[in-house]
Amino acid sequence: MSRFVFPPTEAPSVAIAGSTERFPVHRIYCVGLNYSDHIREMGSEPGSPVFFMKPADAVVANGVAVPYPPATSNFHYEIELVVAIGRAGRDIPPARALEHVFGYAAGNDLTRRDLQAAAKARGQPWDIAKGFDYSAPVAALRPAGAGHVVSGRIWMKVNAELRQESDVSRMLWDVPHIIAALSGLYELLPGDLIFSGTPAGVGALQPGDVLEGGIDGLEVLRTTIGPRVVAAG
Ligand code: MN
Repeated sequence: MSRFVFPPTEAPSVAIAGSTERFPVHRIYCVGLNYSDHIREMGSEPGSPVFFMKPADAVVANGVAVPYPPATSNFHYEIELVVAIGRAGRDIPPARALEHVFGYAAGNDLTRRDLQAAAKARGQPWDIAKGFDYSAPVAALRPAGAGHVVSGRIWMKVNAELRQESDVSRMLWDVPHIIAALSGLYELLPGDLIFSGTPAGVGALQPGDVLEGGIDGLEVLRTTIGPRVVAAG
């Protein structure tokens, strides 16, 4: 048993619908540019989706307020289908990919859009735009035994106004192809979450905004945006 110089931080985890047990989060992978209408609203043409990551401790439970983050004045929501991995694998063929899925949830890939635009313009990585504190709200996971999510309405409301609406069947890479591509780059492990990309309709948030987002058959994700983080000192 290791002895630590101070207690390690608590393992990040996500709720499981209908269970008191929790899903321990290992890594958070994200797919960008996976819906054609969102790629066009970002000013590009559909090509290959991209991968990026968020830290595991960026997860935020359903109903918990997210502070408006520092260093941005263009803080965006992105409703996404989240795929939770329950079985390890490398180089997983698409036909076997769903065997590795533990379950599914609605998630929000919160983004500092101004920092992302600056990074894109300079050819820099997206970490500070995507992988910040509290950037990954996730509702309860629905285990795959209740069915895999291959289609269904995906939507996001801000202050009760519908902003995003599409169908997860419109993803350029479906879940099996995301898992196949990602497992060629990394060994997937139980505890990995994969945010699968957002459709069109992203936009800016303000402190006090109330978000509701969902995917047919999955728990609705409810998030409020808290006050701006003020730098100490
Ligand atoms: Mn996204």
